[in-house]
Amino acid sequence: MKKIHRCYFSIFALLLAPAVFALAQDQTTSAGPNTRTGAQYELVILNGRVMDPESGLDATRNIGVSGGKIRAISAKPLAGRQTIDAKGLVVAPGFIDLHAHGQTPENYEHQAMDGVTTALELEIGVADIDGFYAEREGKAAINFGVSAGHVPARMRLMRDPSTSILPRGDAAHREATAAEITEMKQALEKGLKQGALAVGFGIQYTPAASRWEILEMFRVAARYGASCHIHIRDMAEKEPANSIQALEEVIAATAITGAPLHIVHITSMGLRAAPKLLQMIGEARKRGLDVTTECYPYTAGLTDISSAIFDGDWQGRMDIGYQNLQWAQTGERLTAESFAQYRKTGGMVVLHTIPEEMMNLAVASPLTMIASDGLLQNGKGHPRSSGAYSRVLGHYVRETKTLSLMDALRKMTLMPAQRLERFAPVMKNKGRIRVGADADLTVFDADRVIDRATYAEPAKYSEGMKYVIVNGVAVVRDGQLQNSVAPGRAVRATSK
Ligand SMILES: [Zn+2]
Repeated sequence: MKKIHRCYFSIFALLLAPAVFALAQDQTTSAGPNTRTGAQYELVILNGRVMDPESGLDATRNIGVSGGKIRAISAKPLAGRQTIDAKGLVVAPGFIDLHAHGQTPENYEHQAMDGVTTALELEIGVADIDGFYAEREGKAAINFGVSAGHVPARMRLMRDPSTSILPRGDAAHREATAAEITEMKQALEKGLKQGALAVGFGIQYTPAASRWEILEMFRVAARYGASCHIHIRDMAEKEPANSIQALEEVIAATAITGAPLHIVHITSMGLRAAPKLLQMIGEARKRGLDVTTECYPYTAGLTDISSAIFDGDWQGRMDIGYQNLQWAQTGERLTAESFAQYRKTGGMVVLHTIPEEMMNLAVASPLTMIASDGLLQNGKGHPRSSGAYSRVLGHYVRETKTLSLMDALRKMTLMPAQRLERFAPVMKNKGRIRVGADADLTVFDADRVIDRATYAEPAKYSEGMKYVIVNGVAVVRDGQLQNSVAPGRAVRATSK
């Protein structure tokens, strides 16, 4: 596998070479200086190693920011009312997380300390798009957004008794009537009209949803040009129901309907078959299908113990036992007795299922974006909520040299922006360091950045993120979270 990766990296380098020369000249706008103070910009970030995966720029530059936008990228001195000295630090586009379940102040803070400036809940999504945005507008540290979700639409329609984001009653286990399928289509359509960024699916959590039902939801997404973000129907490789067939189902749905497809957490679905799933995605792309994927840099997942993932022979399917399950609330490993007890009450459980070599291979693959799949509730949950991005930069880039810094940044910034930008044009101004782009910037110490969160202590902040700028405002300054600011904005597909 190593050989293949090296070859991909040299292709990256070749493609980027002309862009680097094109950018040798400065980019500035014609904004005149403020004559009273001499400061031309509201904020300047000086002497940083500016890295932009789109243009290939990797050089010492000064950046001028005003009105929430990048106004200048220059080798010449710039003056601002506020100055950040970024000497010895990397200045990158702010990280964009396409898979962030935690959409609360607690989660936004942990993600900001991990370098994330935009957190989007696209896998499960919500049923009430306007309500989601209204609740957060003007109050969020980082930018936020959401998909119209098939799972919550099904839960609402079938009055599922679950109190978590995943169903445990009819929405998981009852087949929908034709009339109900029509109602779900209308619910997704309404969400897309309200500005939802995508359509979300968790098919493994709604096993009673027929192939036809899923195809019908794809048809709605296709009509609007929205991508379908999917937790596929099955895991691993054991026949007959497995991740290969589950991926075939949704690639076929994309071929039939034309809706773009994004497969979430490829490693926790494929387990040992992850390389085969990646191969299938690469092949589908070569045939012109718009299929993308993501992974998180951990060997465990997290889900609700009362969900359909644990229906039937879950041990056989995932090739694990009770000892592979860890109760998030206490950290205890489960037994047959504690599993049965918690399954009745519901709650978050960590699943230690992903072989380490599969995680390594997925992080290195040029096909994957990095996404956290994070969710913290009162400090409990999974370390990926606090550390996914710093773990890639500290462990995979610096310590194991699995991928270059620029390739890692591409997976965290440009690729997720490009995934959404055709449907959500606002994303064209994110994930890049370019004059006119949103001033979402992450300034970090590449020699020190590392995750500190563990399964026992998932709420520990990452280290090494020095400044995290959201729409021109620092939410992390000198490595410290700024609690008094809320510059995060709603990211919608349409301007409403
Ligand atoms: Zn999932």
